[in-house]
Amino acid sequence: MKKITILVPAYNEEESLPLLYERLSKIVNQMQNYEFELLFVNDGSKDNTLNEIKELRKKDSRVSYVDFSRNFGKEIAMIAGLDYATGDCVIIMDADLQDPPELIPQMVELWEQGYDDVYAKRKSRAGETWLKKFTSKMYYKVLQSLTTVQIQKDTGDFRLLDKRCVNALRKMRETGRCSKSMFSWIGYNKKEILYDRDPRIAGKTKWNYKKLIDLAIDGITAFTTSPLRISTYISIPTFFALFIYFLYVIIKCIRLNVEIQAYQAIILLILFFAGIQIILIGIMGEYLGRIFNESKNRPLYLVNEYNGEKETNE
Ligand code: UDP
Ligand code: MG
Repeated sequence: MKKITILVPAYNEEESLPLLYERLSKIVNQMQNYEFELLFVNDGSKDNTLNEIKELRKKDSRVSYVDFSRNFGKEIAMIAGLDYATGDCVIIMDADLQDPPELIPQMVELWEQGYDDVYAKRKSRAGETWLKKFTSKMYYKVLQSLTTVQIQKDTGDFRLLDKRCVNALRKMRETGRCSKSMFSWIGYNKKEILYDRDPRIAGKTKWNYKKLIDLAIDGITAFTTSPLRISTYISIPTFFALFIYFLYVIIKCIRLNVEIQAYQAIILLILFFAGIQIILIGIMGEYLGRIFNESKNRPLYLVNEYNGEKETNE
């Protein structure tokens, strides 16, 4: 019998957890052809979340949990969950029922059809402000424009991952994690399903704009070093301006037969040294980017099949 791990990162979710368990177990109990593991990662909650989880474990032996020593954030909670998951596939979902468990049977069906990464794309987002929707849309645009890897729009962390995707993600041990771009980076056979995102069932969102901005910056810098290339790009117009102005001054001086004036010399010097400095910063940026990429220690590639056998990344 195949085993499915449901991975739920939880931070101060005492109110949501009983509701989540109720709705989730209803779905899971109907799927009798599978074994289940309900894996909670308690991300340093300050409320009663851990006790709630322990209560659930007493009632239901399928429940297991990883308890963090402090709050590490959802990204780290997810990788810890992937590390501890024992299933043949893992379904990641939020604790606040914004990701409807009713989609699970459909995800599993597609998994059985051979898809490795079944991700749920939001058709709508109830209970979120226009500012959050707008900023998230712009963020996808910027992120996509900076990289050649295809990034899924309007997709959160709610998805089913086959064992080999899980193994691949386990190999990516970088600390500045951006799961969104990692899910894209690993590739494999992806399938999208659509759903309406509900508002949070209880409690408050853990995100604030500072966290979101931090996540956005982490996302961009974890995924691409192209911001480091900015100064290389700026140096080109600077030198171009220097060159034009230099020609202009020289030709003018020769034609009018006058000496170069002090302000012209100063402009030329400023352009020259600014250009040199920007280029040097750019060169450092290029090397820094390479060090950065190397220090991530990712596998260089992931194999889909070998001689017709699916590669599982063990
Ligand atoms: N979460 C977590 N650690 C954190 C913040 C959030 O594990 O530091 C969990 C949280 O319990 C929930 C999920 O991540 O299961 C999504 O959080 P939230 O609903 O607050 O985010 P939003 O849906 O508003 O983006
Ligand atoms: Mg939420």
